[in-house]
Amino acid sequence: MIIDLRSDTVTKPTKGMLEAMWAAEVGDDVLGEDPSVQALETRLAAMFGMEAGMFCPSGTMSNQIAIKLHAGQHKEVVCHKDSHIYLYEGGGIMANAMASVRLLDGKYGKLSAGTVEEAIQPEDVHAPMTTLVSLENTMNKGGGSVYTLGEVKAIQQVCQAHQLKLHLDGARIFNGLAATGEKAEDWGNVFDTISVCLSKGLGCPVGSVLLGDKAMIHHARRIRKSMGGGMRQVGFMAAAGIYALEHHVGRLEEDHRRAKTVAEILSAQAHTAEVFPVPTNIVIVRLAGISPKEMLAKLDEKGIRAVQFGKDMIRFVTHLDVTDDHLEAMQKRLK
Ligand SMILES: *Cc1c(COP(=O)(O)O)cnc(C)c1O
Repeated sequence: MIIDLRSDTVTKPTKGMLEAMWAAEVGDDVLGEDPSVQALETRLAAMFGMEAGMFCPSGTMSNQIAIKLHAGQHKEVVCHKDSHIYLYEGGGIMANAMASVRLLDGKYGKLSAGTVEEAIQPEDVHAPMTTLVSLENTMNKGGGSVYTLGEVKAIQQVCQAHQLKLHLDGARIFNGLAATGEKAEDWGNVFDTISVCLSKGLGCPVGSVLLGDKAMIHHARRIRKSMGGGMRQVGFMAAAGIYALEHHVGRLEEDHRRAKTVAEILSAQAHTAEVFPVPTNIVIVRLAGISPKEMLAKLDEKGIRAVQFGKDMIRFVTHLDVTDDHLEAMQKRLK
């Protein structure tokens, strides 16, 4: 039995999800005729109290479209130095939006209102124009760390005072909401755009939805088309998303509970120097006396899979396909 903790993207669709996909009513979504896609977009927008949504093939595309909406040449995006939009989207801030980027520091990948305010460029021809602040929740490189509503509201106030747009990379927003018990609608109130991934903790094979107001999403459809992201009978994928919203949101706390167990198992290991706090489904371990490569090879021999995460760290992620049996086996194999 392989215990695959590399990412929450490795899940395969459940039987129920596959049945929902088979049964989907579909149409040509580029012509605006796919009822399943429209149902998903409307439903997710309503959950977050936002006006409109747009299905995208990946979270990367949702984020990149948002950045293109809010920034461009001579403009600057403010984000954490470890954010996904900067580190893991192929240099897209430059390649797609041709925007400058200002990278900030902050514990466990989080920004504060104060550091955001300090980073805003002066009104001066020498400087790029700050137009966008992008946050990530939960924060992957911060060990699945979670912002509270109060923290993001403080950042929103800075953005409003300086007429900046505020985007949320909400690839794992439902994990964040499960951890704090806050309401999606309250979060929708804070941001101009939010990208939500269906292919992470929610267990869909594909997909992300970008949320915003009607005018933004209307323009976003042009950008998506130019990126080659307009898809035809994609309602089969949207149906998986609807199924996930109904069946896989309420169970995320199980992933969080299991991640804490993974952290306990790893804390007891010889080469563990530090385990990041585990508020959600991500466990980051800093190693000592062994390289990530060596450690991953050792784990692989025992049928346990994780990934390297920076120079001296490895990452484990719990998800829909990880059970208590897997964790019992992991515990035994690492004794
Ligand atoms: C996975 C992820 C994305 C989007 O990834 P895709 O693989 O393109 O869907 C965006 N942000 C974060 C924080 C992620 O973990």
